[in-house]
Amino acid sequence: MIQRDGALTSLWQGNTAPYIVENRPDKNIVYDVIIVGGGITGISTALLLQEAGKQCLVLEAAEIGYGTTGGTTAHLNTLLDVPYYVIAKNFGEENAAHVAEAAAAALRLIKDNVQRFDIDCGFTEADAYLFAQDEEQEKELEKIRDTSAKAGLDIIYVDGTPVPVPYTKAVRVKGQAKFSPLEYVHGIAKAFEAAGGVIAQNCKVINTSRENTLKVETNAGVFSAVDLIYATHIPPGINLLHLRCAPYRSYAMAVTLQDDAYPEELSYDMYDPYHYYRTQVVKGEKYLIVGGEDHKTGMEANTEKCLQRLESHVRKYFPVKEIAYKWSSQYFEPADGLPYIGYLPGAEDHIFVATGYGGNGMTYSSVAALLLKQIILQEKPALEKLFDPNRIKPIAGFTNFVTHNTDVIKEFFGKLFSGEEITQLAELAPGEGKLVEYHDRKIALYKNEEGRLYALNPNCAHMKCDVKWNQAERSWDCPCHGARYNYDGKVMTGPADSDLEGLVLS
Ligand SMILES: Cc1cc2nc3c(=O)[nH]c(=O)nc-3n(C[C@H](O)[C@H](O)[C@H](O)COP(=O)(O)OP(=O)(O)OC[C@H]3O[C@@H](n4cnc5c(N)ncnc54)[C@H](O)[C@@H]3O)c2cc1C
Repeated sequence: MIQRDGALTSLWQGNTAPYIVENRPDKNIVYDVIIVGGGITGISTALLLQEAGKQCLVLEAAEIGYGTTGGTTAHLNTLLDVPYYVIAKNFGEENAAHVAEAAAAALRLIKDNVQRFDIDCGFTEADAYLFAQDEEQEKELEKIRDTSAKAGLDIIYVDGTPVPVPYTKAVRVKGQAKFSPLEYVHGIAKAFEAAGGVIAQNCKVINTSRENTLKVETNAGVFSAVDLIYATHIPPGINLLHLRCAPYRSYAMAVTLQDDAYPEELSYDMYDPYHYYRTQVVKGEKYLIVGGEDHKTGMEANTEKCLQRLESHVRKYFPVKEIAYKWSSQYFEPADGLPYIGYLPGAEDHIFVATGYGGNGMTYSSVAALLLKQIILQEKPALEKLFDPNRIKPIAGFTNFVTHNTDVIKEFFGKLFSGEEITQLAELAPGEGKLVEYHDRKIALYKNEEGRLYALNPNCAHMKCDVKWNQAERSWDCPCHGARYNYDGKVMTGPADSDLEGLVLS
């Protein structure tokens, strides 16, 4: 089973063997492009660039699919979470149509890859249904239908949806799809290696610097490149994009049913957060996948309740035989509704990024792959400006904020904490974590199943916000920019690039 950035096991993770690389990276050559991150964005982009004649190296901190790609639900949509009327309002009607076309091109690329490389990932074209359940939602649905049609989608009102959930009005959109994401990503990783590309797993990028070429420092040595792409879901370090991308958690479960009434098409209700439904056959077994209960990272006191609410929802409408898998994962909402794909703000010209996909990263990752390839090949793509990460304005006082918080932390540490006192204070059950107040300071405490206590400085290593405990995934999550740490403080996902500081208990 592959690893993932959480304690729960996703459907894809539970059914996929780790990716075995067939090449070794070479520290003595200058790669044309180093791609940091082996999720769907990194591997999709690497394949296109390698096929276009660039010698590419993918550096993945853990394993291919370790990030949100291993915890997604893999609907492939041109009907996006940010409605086309919002995109039209923020970027103009013409650009809304360009976004719809880019999403359609992304789905064509995925279908083409599946066929060309004969990837057994259950890729199936499907219709999508969006349904309203009250008058207010009906008005919203009408707006979505009208503006989606204007943007070029094949969308009409219909009588009926594939799911047994009551509705008042519904639309159907043609030209959507679904697949098993890890099988797909592993398939294109193989194609990338077959084309001469190189992948290094368990290879974390720590820093970059310039000495004629880009020097990319990792835990396995230094590699050189002309260009570098951060396909890390959110870029590491401190960047203005962190203030433009808000981290959210979403919950999913894969269940088997007592009857065979699995809905073959994709469906969505219109609550905020909304529920999403689809079926996938994995290793010969059919699963209904239902997701929802999204919230801003760190803003839910008990994340296990999110899974309980989702389970109640599924059981209310479907004859559940078994809850086979349940998990959660993270995505990043962009401030103005579109992802940031292109030159990394504040970095030199040879460093690129793709982030801020919201809940449409399966589609937007291929939009990013196509666009980044064109930018790096200097083809001056028409979409470059629309998705430009530098469309954001610098924010005054940004640097000061970081300095100020660093000072506070210095003052905090160097003190010794009484384990006994803290344990009494916290009253933790085995397997539970909590932020506790101790002598006017906060401490992130976790007690493992054997009763061992882990005490951490709760200040996120990224920009010093306090992390929050995520009971469902047994992780410390930062509500500010989405960095996540294991129960023992080890960093799992960026933008933080170091662990939470451990505290010594007396
Ligand atoms: C529950 C849930 C359901 C979703 N469902 C859908 C859906 O149905 N359809 C859809 O379109 N989108 C969906 N999304 C969103 C989509 O899954 C993500 O946008 C997408 O997977 C992001 O892929 P990525 O490759 O950019 O990032 P990731 O998959 O997170 O990959 C980033 C990789 O970078 C690596 N990395 C990070 N830092 C470093 C470093 N310093 N050095 C080396 N490697 C590093 C990580 O280990 C990781 O493997 C969903 C999201 C969630 C949370």
